[in-house]
Amino acid sequence: MPDKKPKTEAQARRKAEKFLGLKLPKTLHCSFCGKSQHKVEKLIAGPGCFICNECVSLCETIVAGGEIPDQSGFIKPLERPTEDLLELLAFANFATDSSRNFLQSLVDTLRTREVSWAQIAEQLGVSRQAAWERFS
Ligand SMILES: [Zn+2]
Repeated sequence: MPDKKPKTEAQARRKAEKFLGLKLPKTLHCSFCGKSQHKVEKLIAGPGCFICNECVSLCETIVAGGEIPDQSGFIKPLERPTEDLLELLAFANFATDSSRNFLQSLVDTLRTREVSWAQIAEQLGVSRQAAWERFS
């Protein structure tokens, strides 16, 4: 992404859309815990995913070898209220499209580096023909 730090959420959104080549859904969610951008302090973008400040903190604790906090209050994504699931639907669709685009970009990059369809197929666990039909 470009070096300039966005000043507003709208600028950050446009910057992320330009980087990803996709229109972002109205509400973004953490790909790890599913919380919406409105329920967390920060949401950090990655290729086809987002992580919230709370999940980053949990990861830091785990990486540092600290004790993992009690997760018994964690609501599994599919046990959330219908309103939450409806809101999550657009984001899940975006995440799927974004991941698909990233996968295609990986294959395109490998092909420009003259990596064979056989090598790509082997990594994907599919036949050479299946890899070629899906990504060429
Ligand atoms: Zn999270």
